[in-house]
Amino acid sequence: MAQRGNLSHFTGPSPSSSLDTFARAKLAALAADARLRTPTTSRRDDAVGVQRDGRRLISFSSNDYLNLTQQPEVLRAAHAALTEFGTGSGGSPLVSGRHPLYERLEAALADYKGSAAACLFGSGYLANLGVIPSLVGSGDLVLVDQLAHACIVGGARLSGATIATFAHNDATHAATLLARLRTTHRHALLATENVFSMDGDLAPLDELASLAAEYDAWLLTDDAHGLGVLAPHSRPPIALQIGTLSKALASYGGYACASQAVVALLHNRARTFVYSTALPPASVAAALAALTFVREQPDYCARPLENARRFTQRLGLAPAASPIVPLVVGASRAALAASQALEARGFLVVAIRPPTVPEGTARLRVAFSAQHSDEAIDALADAVTDVLG
Ligand SMILES: *Cc1c(COP(=O)(O)O)cnc(C)c1O
Repeated sequence: MAQRGNLSHFTGPSPSSSLDTFARAKLAALAADARLRTPTTSRRDDAVGVQRDGRRLISFSSNDYLNLTQQPEVLRAAHAALTEFGTGSGGSPLVSGRHPLYERLEAALADYKGSAAACLFGSGYLANLGVIPSLVGSGDLVLVDQLAHACIVGGARLSGATIATFAHNDATHAATLLARLRTTHRHALLATENVFSMDGDLAPLDELASLAAEYDAWLLTDDAHGLGVLAPHSRPPIALQIGTLSKALASYGGYACASQAVVALLHNRARTFVYSTALPPASVAAALAALTFVREQPDYCARPLENARRFTQRLGLAPAASPIVPLVVGASRAALAASQALEARGFLVVAIRPPTVPEGTARLRVAFSAQHSDEAIDALADAVTDVLG
């Protein structure tokens, strides 16, 4: 099991190369820290059910917030694209991979986000890795929230810009850093997530946008966990809006929304756009159908948050701000044990450990979707009370 920190897979015949010895030593150190991770096969049965080790569990560890991976219109759109355009795009978007659905999805995303244009990427991770180094470099400044996703930090590192980290959601600290550092750097980028992936809380976007205006910094937000489940942030307009097609939009891929000039620059400079194959047509078609659904069904899209609030209320926690509710346990071993205890009760709630979250804040990350039933939510809350006390 992924979470169990078991090294037995790696204790075969003695290693023959220094590379293998190196890998085994690193793995042993991770296991000693309860940080070893192993990919686990999960087969999704339906909207909320998952099969693991031959058992059916109710999953609270999926980012398919709207359960659209199984929605008939979305499936139909993907099938139709598969039939019409084939399984793969066959090239990068600048060469030959930009099939007709691309333009439609880019236009729909830009319109939904209140931007002039959009650019698709192979994933949300690749969007951040491509966009940030296209816009800033050596001599520039990137200011990132302390808890920002690994790919925002990765993009900042690749850029070669000076990186400064502000305390989580602390616009006052960001202002202090800008006051100190802005004048000695040519350009500045201020980067954060709309909804924090492991904490479920929301960035103070209005304050950050004011700061960006005051210091002539470019605001970049990553809305991976907000799109489709929280109303789009319309005011003030944000210069660079990044996100993924793989969470509420039930597909695969990433995007960046910005002005036409910025998108045209990305077409020329974003290495993960220029040098990587365009998305498969069926993935684009599925995301487009999912986005159409999101625009047409606001009541349904409110359900993941309503479900999260039912859970936080039942446990006497502060009302959830998003469909993600963290239950911070502290030690990695304790978080793993809590996750296993919930699994024994029929729930999949994966433990999230460092380095994904800061030292000492290992947690259960509970993610709610539209089709979790009230009964399942209440049963999970009772099990959590049992397990965490
Ligand atoms: C999931 C996530 C990503 C990565 O998106 P993928 O499309 O899965 O690569 C990027 N940023 C944030 C904040 C995320 O939560």
